[in-house]
Amino acid sequence: MSSLLVDGIGELVTNDPALGDGPLGLIPDAAVVLVDQQVAWVGRADGAPAADGRLDAGGGAVLPGFVDSHSHLVFAGDRAAEFAARMAGEPYTGGGIRTTVAATRAASDDTLRATAARLRAEALRQGTTTIEVKSGYGLSVADESRSLRIAFEVSPESTFLGAHLVPAEYAGRTDDYVALVCGEMLAAAEPYARWVDVFCERGAFDADQSRAVLAAGIARGLAARVHANQLAAGPGVRLAVELGAASADHCTHLTGADVDALAGSETVATLLPGAEFSTRSPYPDARALLAAGATVALATDCNPGTSYTSSMAFCIALAVREMRMTPPEAVWAATAGGARALRRSDVGTLRPGARADLVVLSAPSYLHLAYRPGVPLVRQVIHNGVVT
Ligand SMILES: [Zn+2]
Repeated sequence: MSSLLVDGIGELVTNDPALGDGPLGLIPDAAVVLVDQQVAWVGRADGAPAADGRLDAGGGAVLPGFVDSHSHLVFAGDRAAEFAARMAGEPYTGGGIRTTVAATRAASDDTLRATAARLRAEALRQGTTTIEVKSGYGLSVADESRSLRIAFEVSPESTFLGAHLVPAEYAGRTDDYVALVCGEMLAAAEPYARWVDVFCERGAFDADQSRAVLAAGIARGLAARVHANQLAAGPGVRLAVELGAASADHCTHLTGADVDALAGSETVATLLPGAEFSTRSPYPDARALLAAGATVALATDCNPGTSYTSSMAFCIALAVREMRMTPPEAVWAATAGGARALRRSDVGTLRPGARADLVVLSAPSYLHLAYRPGVPLVRQVIHNGVVT
């Protein structure tokens, strides 16, 4: 057993209102004691117990490690040229996924593994201590299976997204592809997956096809999450709620009924403003979701086509500036909200018993995450009790 005292904390975000002020449970002049992989104590520094080691936060703010509940890190190639074309006026239709599928199928295991590990390390350096990672660029039994294996090496929060798009060889035979996804492909992927996901969108999978995919995954013990209502209003959000999915992701085009359905459910609305930024699209109506009482999470959607960022701080800045979330709402959504979207109670908070995942900023307040966009404010990351 070893213990570490982190003191010199200008402002501690606990995300537990019982421990401090406001919804973020803020404690000024704070300290945290970690014992092995867990938080053992939080409070005012003048009351801190002794510990074996000490880390001085230097007056910086400390918050729970970011929980990025939506990423696509297993792929090959990049789509910088497509991005440039889009910025020159071409619309995003979702078809660019096929470019990445071709590159991913042609890549070796080692190439895929190296890219996923590089992006995981990049996210960790920026404070992301929990990350969900999807497959979805293989779209064959063998390629989805190895994508999941690699995703699972990077994170236990791995998601089977065989129903990302219908691959070219199944053009015009979507129902045949759905049968493959629900059968042989799911069986091959399931040992490495915690979650099942589907891109429920016109041009991808309709409500019945999406329901079939999610139900097949649930029957095999996976929990559901849904790519919903990104490009247009549609059935994705209501399907997510109907099936008790942990999260409906994107939520860019919502009707009043969709907002009410989310607010009356345990399904988290996960907003991915990096995608709207990178596709120059209108942002989701975060204020309507929050006003209705829905739980909102923020995630990066890190992928090579529509949101090639691993920065949760950037997403917080976008949420505040572009979606009119307040800084406390955005920081909560990027930590505790992400934990809710992954149905985790051990991360996204710094209360005793939580996992020892925390971020030390070189700034006195969490407000600086939105106030100083684009600035690398993460000074130190502790992940699972290890100072990285
Ligand atoms: Zn996605």
